[in-house]
This record gives sequence, C-alpha cells and structure tokens, in this order.
Amino acid sequence: MASIVIVGDGPGGLSAALFLAKNGHEVTVFGTDKTAMNYAHLYNYLGIPEIDGTEFQSIARRQVDAFGAKLRDEEVTSVTAEDGFSVSTEAGSVTAEYLILTEGKGPKLARTLGLKEDDTGAIVVDRDYRSSIERLYVVGRSARPHRSQAIISAGAGATAALDILAREAGKDVQDWDTPPEA
Ligand SMILES: Cc1cc2nc3c(=O)[nH]c(=O)nc-3n(C[C@H](O)[C@H](O)[C@H](O)COP(=O)(O)OP(=O)(O)OC[C@H]3O[C@@H](n4cnc5c(N)ncnc54)[C@H](O)[C@@H]3O)c2cc1C
Repeated sequence: MASIVIVGDGPGGLSAALFLAKNGHEVTVFGTDKTAMNYAHLYNYLGIPEIDGTEFQSIARRQVDAFGAKLRDEEVTSVTAEDGFSVSTEAGSVTAEYLILTEGKGPKLARTLGLKEDDTGAIVVDRDYRSSIERLYVVGRSARPHRSQAIISAGAGATAALDILAREAGKDVQDWDTPPEA
C-alpha cells in the first residue's frame, strides 16, 4: 500500500483519490472546496444530463470518502520533495511516497518546486501526468489552464491514478468492474 497526498479537491484531485482509495491505497486529499466547480452548472459531463457544480462536488466528496480517502479541509502552505514528499498546513506536516498537485488555475506550489511551465503557463507533464520530479504528478487545470473542462480534469486524475496503480503493481492495471450478481 502506497501513501499518496493530493493537493486540490476539484474534479482532478477527487477523481485521482477515488481510483487510488478504491484500490486500497492510503490517500489524503487537502482542499477547502474553493473549486471553480462552485461557479459552474454542467450540461457537458457525459452520462449526467445536467447538474449544478456544487452538487457534483458534494456527490464526488461523498463517493471518495466512502472508499476510505481522508478529506482534510485545510490549505497546504508548502511542499518539499526530498526523500519522498512533505506537505505542510497550519496544523502540521504529513509525508507521502507520491504527490499529486491539482491546484487549479494558479499552480503556486508547483512553481515553488521549480516545475517547468510552457509558454501557455501550463505545468509540463507527460501523457500520464508525470512531472519532471519522480513520483510527482500535476493534473487538471494546472496542466491545461486555457482548455479546462471538468470531465478533462476528472480524466486526468484517473490517468495519473492508474499510472501510480501500475507502478505499485509492477504491471499495467485497469480498474474494471462488472455488474453485481442478480
Ligand atoms: C463560471 C465557470 C463556469 C464553468 N462551467 C463549466 C461547465 O459548464 N462545464 C465544465 O466542464 N467546466 C466548467 N467550468 C470549468 C471547471 O470548473 C474546471 O474545468 C474544473 O473545476 C477544473 O478542475 P480541476 O480539478 O483541474 O481544478 P479546480 O476545480 O480549480 O480545483 C482545484 C482545487 O485545488 C484547491 N487548492 C489549490 N491550492 C490549494 C492548496 N494550496 N491547498 C489546498 N487546496 C488547494 C482549490 O481551492 C480548488 O478547490 C467552469 C468554470 C467556471 C469558473
């Protein structure tokens, strides 16, 4: 079981948390529910004809909590990346083997770690959302500031989570379920 800290509680962070906690990893999500989703009303999230952004967040938080992730209603003030990760809030610090940054529009913590940005202000990541720092992922709007949609951030969180699941398992992983027996 790996320890994973996720900074940011929008669709990107909560989606990563869902996949990782569902597969038995120790997941802590930091965020104070200040996501842009609270200003949104969605008509373009496939599978959901219409939903208010705040209601979407409330359902997502309950879903993640039910799979055992810890949701901490705190702002992260600093992160370090030496021998694993240390994440600090006013209440203290936690350490983790993996860090996922999903800060939204202004990726302040990613910048303090010296992560490279492209000329659009996007933090540079690969197709699994790996950053240039080993075991550190940047997903969602921080990696795609000018083409941001909830479903894209949720997909990015899931992609990063599957990459972590695969690294831990030492082989490719797919989180596929089938209908319950009647
Ligand atoms: C007015 C408006 C309407 C929109 N309408 C739509 C729509 O109809 N459909 C659609 O698909 N998208 C819509 N969007 C865009 C959608 O909200 C974003 O694409 C989505 O929220 C991005 O998700 P994310 O997880 O990448 O980032 P965010 O949702 O921005 O989440 C980032 C989270 O990280 C938290 N955070 C940042 N730093 C820290 C820290 N140091 N410590 C703790 N937490 C931290 C933030 O508070 C925030 O909660 C709309 C946005 C706005 C503003």
